[in-house]
Amino acid sequence: MADLFKGYKGKALGLLKDYNIRVWSEASVKTTRGDFRGIVLPRSENDDDRHIVLKLATGYNVGIAVDTVLDMREEGYKEAHYKIPEKEFPFSADKPNVKLLGTGGTIASRLDYRTGAVIPAFSPGELYGAVPELADICNLTTEKLFAVFSENMGPQQYIKLAISIGKEIEKGIDGIVIGHGTDTMHHTASALAFMVQNSPVPIVMVGSQRSSDRPSSDAALNLMHATKAAAESDIAEVMVCMFGPTSDEYGLLHSGCRVRKMHSSYRSTFRTLGDIPLAMIDRQKITPLRDNYNRRRNDREVTILPYFEEKVALVYYYPNMMPDIIDALVDNGYKGIVIAGTGLGHVNKPVYPAIERATKAGVAIYMTVQTLWGYVHMFVYDTGRDLMSKGIIPAENMLPEVAYIKLGWAFGQTSDLEEIKKIMLTPVCDEITEREPYNGYLVFQGGIPEIEEFLKRVHK
Ligand code: ASP
Repeated sequence: MADLFKGYKGKALGLLKDYNIRVWSEASVKTTRGDFRGIVLPRSENDDDRHIVLKLATGYNVGIAVDTVLDMREEGYKEAHYKIPEKEFPFSADKPNVKLLGTGGTIASRLDYRTGAVIPAFSPGELYGAVPELADICNLTTEKLFAVFSENMGPQQYIKLAISIGKEIEKGIDGIVIGHGTDTMHHTASALAFMVQNSPVPIVMVGSQRSSDRPSSDAALNLMHATKAAAESDIAEVMVCMFGPTSDEYGLLHSGCRVRKMHSSYRSTFRTLGDIPLAMIDRQKITPLRDNYNRRRNDREVTILPYFEEKVALVYYYPNMMPDIIDALVDNGYKGIVIAGTGLGHVNKPVYPAIERATKAGVAIYMTVQTLWGYVHMFVYDTGRDLMSKGIIPAENMLPEVAYIKLGWAFGQTSDLEEIKKIMLTPVCDEITEREPYNGYLVFQGGIPEIEEFLKRVHK
C-alpha cells in the first residue's frame, strides 16, 4: 500500500490520496500556474512534503507545489522498477580491499532514467553498474550507515562513523572511502581526524556537487579518485577528495583539518586553507604536493577516540553583537565557545564583560579568525591583550569550524580546563601549523592586469 505513494508524506500524500493518484501513474494536473501532464515520480526520504514531482514528456522533472493544485486526474499507469541493474562486483585477489561507508548527500543519489526515480546507488552491485571503472581499482564492499543530507550530520553520526572505521581497520581493510554530502564535509572530516588517530590506511571522504543524473556531474570522477586514493595512496590520513580547481582533469586530496567548502554550487568548491593540498590525483597517478604526512603501514593499530560534548558553540562575531549572545550560552550551560573574530581576532568592547563573566563561570572561550587565512594575533592591539586578560585563548590558525569540533571533542574527554587547553593547542592533524606557505593563498581578482595575463597563459 505504502508503495503506491512511494516517498510522499504530509500535504503531498494527502493530495495524491484525495484524487486517487498513484506514483508511476500518468497524471494531468491543473494548477494556478498552468496545466501539466506527466508521470508521477516517487520521492526520496529526504524530500519535502509540499511538492508533487512529475516527469514531463520532454524528460524534465517539475515540482508542483501542492497549494497551487486545482485538479488532478490519473490518465494511465506504467509499472516501474525501483532499482538500477545490479552487477556482481568482481573480486580479484591481487587488488586492495576498500570499504565504502555511506552517509548520504548528493553522491548517494542517482536518477534512474528508465524509471525517473532518484535512488540510492549504494550496494557494491549498484555502484559497479553505475561506475564500472571502480572494479579496476579495488575490491569494493559497501555499508550504508546513514542516508542524510549533511546538515543533519552531528556528534552521534561522527561517533558511529569513527567506531565503524576502527572496526574496518582492525578487520584488515586497505582503505576507507566515506560518501558524504558536501555542505558539512569539512566538519565531519575534522571530527574524524580527531576521533581516528594514527590510522595505518587512508580514510577518504568524497561527495558530489551535482547528482549523477546531470551531464556535468562530478559524482563518478570524484568517486573514482577517492577510491584510488583509498586503495593506493601512501597517505594514511583523513582526507577530502574532490574536484580540482577548474576542469575535470584532476582531483585534490585535502587534509581533513585544513579543508573547507568555499563555493555553494561550483564543482571545484573545496579548498585547502592555510596550507597547500596534500596531493593531486587523476585516473593514472597520485602526485603528492607535500611530504609531511603519515605514511601507510601494514599494522592494524589505530586509536579511536569517539567522544563529543554537545554543549559547545561557534559564534561568528559581527559588529554590534550584543553581550547577551554570550550570556545566553553561559545561562544555557554551554561549556565552551569558539568565537570567529574579526581581523587578528577581535570583538567589540561591549562584549568584553560578558566574556569575563563567562570565563569566570568556567566556560572555555577560544578565538579564531573570520579571515580563515592567517593566525590569531592578540598581542598586536591592546584590545586583544584586554581580551586575553579576560580569559580568551587564541587558537592559532585553526579554522573556526575545526576549533568548534575540536573543542566538542576535547570536552567529550575531560572537563579540566587546563587539560582542554593542552588538547586544543596540541596539533593532531595540521589543524595548527607553524606557518602558512606563501603559495597557498591565491585569490583571483579578475580585471587586474597580472591576473588577466596569467589566465591568458593558462586558458589558451
Ligand atoms: N545538501 C547536500 C549535502 O550536503 C549537498 C551535497 O551533497 O553536495 O548533503
